[in-house]
Amino acid sequence: MKLIDNFNFKGHKAIVRVDFNVPLDKKTREVTDDTRIRGAIKTIKKIVSDGGSAILMSHLGRPEGIQDKYSLKPVLPVLEKLLGMKVAFAPDALGDEAVAMAAALKPGEVMMLENVRFYPEEEGKPILPETASEEEKKAAKAALKVKQKEMAKKLSTYADIYVNDAFGTAHRAHATTAVMADYFPEDKRMFGFLINSELAAMDKVLKSSQKPFTAVMGGAKVSDKILIIDNLLDRVDNLIIGGGMTYTFIKARGGRIGNSLCEEDKLEVARAVMEKAKAKGVNLIFPVDSVNADKFDAEANTYVSAIDDVKDGWMGLDIGPKSIALFEKVIMDSKTILWNGPMGVFEMEKFAAGTTAIAEAVARATEKGAFSLIGGGDSVAAINKNNLADKVSYVSTGGGAMLEYMEGKKLPGITAIRGE
Ligand code: AMP
Repeated sequence: MKLIDNFNFKGHKAIVRVDFNVPLDKKTREVTDDTRIRGAIKTIKKIVSDGGSAILMSHLGRPEGIQDKYSLKPVLPVLEKLLGMKVAFAPDALGDEAVAMAAALKPGEVMMLENVRFYPEEEGKPILPETASEEEKKAAKAALKVKQKEMAKKLSTYADIYVNDAFGTAHRAHATTAVMADYFPEDKRMFGFLINSELAAMDKVLKSSQKPFTAVMGGAKVSDKILIIDNLLDRVDNLIIGGGMTYTFIKARGGRIGNSLCEEDKLEVARAVMEKAKAKGVNLIFPVDSVNADKFDAEANTYVSAIDDVKDGWMGLDIGPKSIALFEKVIMDSKTILWNGPMGVFEMEKFAAGTTAIAEAVARATEKGAFSLIGGGDSVAAINKNNLADKVSYVSTGGGAMLEYMEGKKLPGITAIRGE
């Protein structure tokens, strides 16, 4: 594996997997958030300023075959503006025109391929009628795997260097995210700057964290977060639990949770987490109070109770003021902080205080010298909503990919390049 930082692209053609899976306005089809496009600019600029050329490929949405509403065309003007140069567009990633355009691409030029998911072999998921039998599904999948390799092989002929900078899809074993790497020798494949910085931030937290290390886990469900919690228990000093999943833990330890969110089938799992924390000497910290609502509604009536004494008919939708003070203190005393998931239903103003307070505490701790990593769509949204993105150390761009890496799993897109 080569490092992009000290590779000279002069005279090289690079095929770059980027993540341009951006939200589009339903009516105008304009890009409504260009964060992901901006994330790839540094890598593209490095290639062209070295005197190389770049062929960009991405997916957008989940098309079933060719569907115009998933075309990458709306990305083009935004990309051209950010790069300050023209970008050629190949309307079919595997078509003759794309092949010819790639062959004719000159040093300093950039072109982009149409949505690679217009080909089902990109993902390797066959499009089949509901009525298909298990046998048919298996056969179709096997046939598509063969086509997936063919697709990867064909795309690899467009360029002599493969760069993966699509962190958001690094946990997928798709043709352009992982399979393609096999068609390039080890010294001709590398990560782009975005993946490099994502990996550096996550490894700093997982492998060389300064102590005390505090993880703040929130969000709706224990079941979504249990694997990451389990992996973190081997590493952290403090594990703060907030959000909807709190109440499954509180019920598991015998508390009254009224109508709060609860995964009845995860009570045992919650007990196992509490036991593991004890055995590992991890300080497992739950909210001590709860902001309760009489219905799941922005205009609901509310009252604050002890966390384990929510009245029947009421549901806990945010952490209370005592919990905020408790969590703030732990966060402020930490040197490494990982935050994933909101403390309450922060989409509703009445239940946003806990999440906002934690976002601010993480920013203050960072100012004091802590390293903070924020990951997962909703905690990132909370950081952005409070304009704190540049006051924390790193905001991850890949929700699912980040979670899986933090769970200790190997990501196909990462392994394909660095080989472990
Ligand atoms: P996740 O995607 O698992 O991080 O969960 C985020 C979602 O959890 C957000 O949409 C929140 O509104 C929701 N959430 C947070 N706290 C609660 C709660 N106490 N009750 C119900 N939903 C919650």
